[in-house]
Amino acid sequence: MLKREKSNALFERAKKYIPGGVNSPVRAFRAVGGDPIFIKSAKGAYLYDEDGNSYIDMINSWGPMILGHAPEVVQKAVMDAVPHSMSYGAPSAKEAEMAELIVSMVPSVEKVRMVNSGTEATMSAIRLARGFTGRNKMIKFEGCYHGHGDSFLIAAGSGVMTLGTPDSPGVTQGVANDTLTAPYNNLEAVQQLVDTNKGQIAAIILEPVVGNMGCVLPKPGFLQGLRSICDAEGIVLIIDEVMTGFRLAKGGAQEVFGVKADITTMGKIIGGGMPVGAYGGKKEIMDFVSPAGPVYQAGTLSGNPIAMSAGLAMLHYLNDHAESVYGQLNATGNALVTGIQSSLKKHGLNYTINHMGSMYSLFFTSSEVVDFETAKTSDTVLFGKYFRAMLEKGVYLAPSQFESLFLSTALGQKEVEHILQASDASLAEIMK
Ligand code: PMP
Repeated sequence: MLKREKSNALFERAKKYIPGGVNSPVRAFRAVGGDPIFIKSAKGAYLYDEDGNSYIDMINSWGPMILGHAPEVVQKAVMDAVPHSMSYGAPSAKEAEMAELIVSMVPSVEKVRMVNSGTEATMSAIRLARGFTGRNKMIKFEGCYHGHGDSFLIAAGSGVMTLGTPDSPGVTQGVANDTLTAPYNNLEAVQQLVDTNKGQIAAIILEPVVGNMGCVLPKPGFLQGLRSICDAEGIVLIIDEVMTGFRLAKGGAQEVFGVKADITTMGKIIGGGMPVGAYGGKKEIMDFVSPAGPVYQAGTLSGNPIAMSAGLAMLHYLNDHAESVYGQLNATGNALVTGIQSSLKKHGLNYTINHMGSMYSLFFTSSEVVDFETAKTSDTVLFGKYFRAMLEKGVYLAPSQFESLFLSTALGQKEVEHILQASDASLAEIMK
């Protein structure tokens, strides 16, 4: 059994002063049983907890630590920046450099505004789409998560799906009425919503590869179909690449699938782990943002010099080493998924794995998982057992069936073998 004394004591202390003892619900182990582990440090592929246990990290801060934890190139950039002050609240060269770099890496982005989180990026993008089109409604997909902005907490994924509150109290009926939802991968449902709300829909927003109901891939033609609907109806297509951007390819899912957004939302990765987000897109749309245009959006800490330094180091590295980084991420993903598949076969189990590059999920269901409804056929109790067995064996998975795993380049041969052995033994254990 893992030593837990210090983590348990810290959780008791945290619960007294923080709601639920955590600063983001997905960190709690509610869905998998047990209490969260408190992390003291992390380096490369490993997390180290307060009790001295180590784990191979399969979440990587929910995506951004593509190069593993504390990569030297990002560390050095942050150290170099610190003596020059933590914040100016005035323009700096690094912001222009960051914008230029993002524009060069993501083909659909011509102008970009930095913010401080993925939530801010999507909230601002939807306001911009409304301001630009003069329309109020939007379409999102059941099980997709776009941060905790009011408009998005309708049939949402991630923690709200895990905790069974996909429609949050506190969101007014008025706001909820403007959010229409469709099943993921269902173009007919989208077309129907568009037809019955003719001329009223400002935007369609989606995760191009979903991470937040577990990993779910778009069916062939789904993204292209949405692009055509948006073109035909003057709807702004918002592709939320907070998870997929700079992870699936340097140009994100849009590069992989050859589809262009009108607005792209980005997050955590462009901060190299610092609190950062961004939204960008076509010039004519972005020039609607204040002070160029009338749609207001602002932020004291936006473009923060430390965050920009970390993010620039990360993005330059990904840009300059794209072939080796994405080659390695994809190879690691393939090795893990192939290994888990053969282990499932060995145990006579017919579970579903969805996989793309360095994102994957093992769903405890034999159903194909293509949307919210099919994701929910998973046996979450069994997933909880698998999660706990893996943790005991030193592998830290996302503590919910409805999250994707995110790999890093710090995972080497040794770690891949460790994960596969742990997974095989865990499957054997939980099937007893
Ligand atoms: N969009 C997507 C696709 C996300 O996965 C997330 C969070 N994981 C967000 C937006 C919100 O980002 P943040 O947690 O940084 O606010």
